Amino acid sequence: MRNSILTLFALLLCVNIFAQKVPQNTNYQFFVDLTNVQNDKLEVSLITPKIQKDEIVYNLPKIVPGTYANYDFGRYASDFKAFDASGKALTIEKLDKNSYKIKKAKSLYKITYLVDDTWDSPEISGEYVFEPAGTDIEKDTLFAINTHGFFGYFDNLKKVTYQVTFTKPTGFYGATSLIANKSDAKSDVFSTGNYMDLVDAPIMYSKPDTTILKVGGADILIAVYSPNKKVTSAEIADNVKTLLEAQKEYLGGSLPIKKYAFLIVLSDNLKNGSYGALEHSYSSFYYLPEASAEELSQTIKDVCAHEFFHIVTPLSIHSDEIGNFDYNKPKMSKHLWMYEGMTEYAAGHMQIKYGLIELPQYLNMLRSKINNMYDRYQDNVPFTEMSVDVLDKYKDQYANVYEKGALIGLCLDIKLRELSGGKYGTQNLMRDLSKYYGKEKSFNDVELFDKIAEITKFPAIRQFFAKYVEGKEPLPLTEIFNSVGLEFQKSVQVREKSIGVSVYNLGINPDTKGIFIVDDEGIDAFGRKLGYKAGDEFVSLNGKPLDLNSFRATRLDFMQNTKENDNIEVIVLRKDGDKKVETKLSAALFIPEITEKNLLKPVAVPTDTQINLLKAWLSPENK
Ligand SMILES: [Zn+2]
Repeated sequence: MRNSILTLFALLLCVNIFAQKVPQNTNYQFFVDLTNVQNDKLEVSLITPKIQKDEIVYNLPKIVPGTYANYDFGRYASDFKAFDASGKALTIEKLDKNSYKIKKAKSLYKITYLVDDTWDSPEISGEYVFEPAGTDIEKDTLFAINTHGFFGYFDNLKKVTYQVTFTKPTGFYGATSLIANKSDAKSDVFSTGNYMDLVDAPIMYSKPDTTILKVGGADILIAVYSPNKKVTSAEIADNVKTLLEAQKEYLGGSLPIKKYAFLIVLSDNLKNGSYGALEHSYSSFYYLPEASAEELSQTIKDVCAHEFFHIVTPLSIHSDEIGNFDYNKPKMSKHLWMYEGMTEYAAGHMQIKYGLIELPQYLNMLRSKINNMYDRYQDNVPFTEMSVDVLDKYKDQYANVYEKGALIGLCLDIKLRELSGGKYGTQNLMRDLSKYYGKEKSFNDVELFDKIAEITKFPAIRQFFAKYVEGKEPLPLTEIFNSVGLEFQKSVQVREKSIGVSVYNLGINPDTKGIFIVDDEGIDAFGRKLGYKAGDEFVSLNGKPLDLNSFRATRLDFMQNTKENDNIEVIVLRKDGDKKVETKLSAALFIPEITEKNLLKPVAVPTDTQINLLKAWLSPENK
């Protein structure tokens, strides 16, 4: 029979192909060859665990913890194939963007597919994947291995060992929080006890620039990829060290980890104009604009402090929705105010508390959060409701977790301090919750507010959550700030000299480092007299340059040395069709009455109660 001859022939052929066969067992065994990039893609091959069912579904994740958006990583996989041990292809059926059904699964031995990177695949439509959660494949240069973008799981088979072997280009180093089982010049082998731990550990492959810090008994790895070598890991480590020392104090004097990795990719081409980071239990992955260590200093502080504090929540305090995360049918928790809001609040509060910034800078930080909360987001949606529906209905409200979420944290902290005579704040609360729950024990989403009232022994705090987090009432900012001797004014009319536009309405052109007027809203009466238009990019003010580098000095000179009725001359670049032309604007200076929003300043004569509560809120312990 012709058929059988063919089979025998095929079998002979396969014996050759599978000559060095990897024995199949109960685990996942993945292989990726980083030296073999084809059309910007890498092949992933998997020797599957032995399957005991007739059919099985293999999934790449739709969503991963910490992202709060549907990314559908299956979109980036192609050429999906399944084989039995003889190398014969098994029938597969693509169920949706992320899932493949494999028939005759009892004989399944191997799966292969190609993975394209999320950073550089404009041809793949759908949701933009935030870079810190995505993947990058740049031959001989950089591989951003967010493991969830490469590796998947079979239905109901996430809790077995995952072993991943990377073949790497000469001189490459895989920076990660994982400890390699085996590592030599050509390859690395990593393994984790389950899928969750693999997804929790990104790997950054590049020519190494790494520094290891010791903080509070923990080893902290700083790995940096800077395409134009503008900054080194040693410089960033310097900056992060002070920060981590302060964070250690903030967390009660010790760090709850032994090893942690900061994986930092700096980019000279922020394609989507956004940057940031994603947290994991023992590492965080950064995608930031490339700049000098000095220019990056505050950004690194703000972003690293935030990500590192995620070791508290959601990593050590989380609800069942996160503890038992479903990568393909996720249920969202009500408590983004805590996971993101408390983390963001702590990242700023820690900096003022331990002297990394001064009060005026901290008040500016808070003011900008208040401005954004009112200007950009809906203030009448209960935060718990937004949180549950963040993947759909309230998608565009998500980023309010960094604004209103942090302000909820601030109000809660001061309220708790007030109730406890200064002794108990959110630092104590988070420590108590970590002890009560912890990494392995999830809380029940609906119970958390009651539990907080119970654990803190301040039943009155339940009302705070009912009104301002579950309810629609706007945060009681005036009252809260007043209790620590700060005056909050929503809107004040002041006469103030200005360059014609509010500094809050200026944007930076990343190509030219020029400063431009974002929209008409911030142009004041003097600016209108000059004839500013939205989009105008500054060239000079009274003959002095006005761009990112000179802005501070030129504006200060203007504020100090001009008086009413002086002739003011401004040169701007203005759009004229496809070109930008220099346009000279001039007018006699007058000082307009402007509306200042959300002003925050210390009261003139604070009471003892206010002084004491302010101290309890902002001074380090034992001082
Ligand atoms: Zn976060």
